[in-house]
Amino acid sequence: MVVLAAVGVACLPLDVWRGLVRERRFGLSTQTLRGWLADWAKGELVELVLAAAVWVAAVGLVRALPRWWPLPAAAALALFVLLMSFVAPVVLEPLFNRFRPLEDERLAGELRALAERAGVPVRGVLVADASRRTTRTNAYVSGLGPTRRVVVWDTLLADASEPELKLIVAHELGHRRDRHVLKGTLLGMTGAILVVVVLWAVLGSLQPGDFPNAALLVTGLEIASLPALAWISRRWERAADRCSLELTSDRDAFVRAHVSLARKNLSDLDPPRLAYLMLFTHPTPPERIALADGRGV
Ligand SMILES: [Zn+2]
Repeated sequence: MVVLAAVGVACLPLDVWRGLVRERRFGLSTQTLRGWLADWAKGELVELVLAAAVWVAAVGLVRALPRWWPLPAAAALALFVLLMSFVAPVVLEPLFNRFRPLEDERLAGELRALAERAGVPVRGVLVADASRRTTRTNAYVSGLGPTRRVVVWDTLLADASEPELKLIVAHELGHRRDRHVLKGTLLGMTGAILVVVVLWAVLGSLQPGDFPNAALLVTGLEIASLPALAWISRRWERAADRCSLELTSDRDAFVRAHVSLARKNLSDLDPPRLAYLMLFTHPTPPERIALADGRGV
């Protein structure tokens, strides 16, 4: 706990620069320092509580089952990842944003029809109050089963034309149709099992004082898995892009939506190769537009 809290506070100046100072300089942030700090504290607290709970449970398991702890620990951590996918949209996301159903009945009806055509009916499209924080625009899908949802940021709703909005919702429906949230959760569960195996192989049994080493190992594994995860994510994004083109048959809206997203979010059009391979979870805007033109990618 103390170690994690210390690391969090040590990273604070860098986080303030990255999350607020730089965002303000580029005109992207709409937040005050106070608002930003409140978000930061909430995020750190959630991380601390979850990490502490997982660690206490792990050390408890080692005490109870000194020889067999990796088996129940791997199962429990994988189940924890699964549980988080279910509850995050209803427990964690509302800590940071308020969600309301899309009020425009006609538009909501058209988006529902689009979802029917995609073969993935949704109960509704939710709008998140992202404008409290940023001028960036975005949309995403999250949750599993009863908690699955398509979320559109209010900044996107205000900014995009109707064909562009439909195109972006069609992209999110593509993620739903191909079950990317479920596949991502399964990937996370596999990662959780791998983490337990590595901890067991390197540290043997876990003692309470092993926390810094364990945290270092987990961070190392996270960094090592970045290129593979970014590669998978880019593949899924391309699949969702293709789906959005199929569903809307609106290449013009595709190009306009992605040019507009790139402008609003100040996307890097031609990132350094290493940064692209390690960190880019989405194809670059030129790559996406090439896909729409059938120039393959
Ligand atoms: Zn996407």
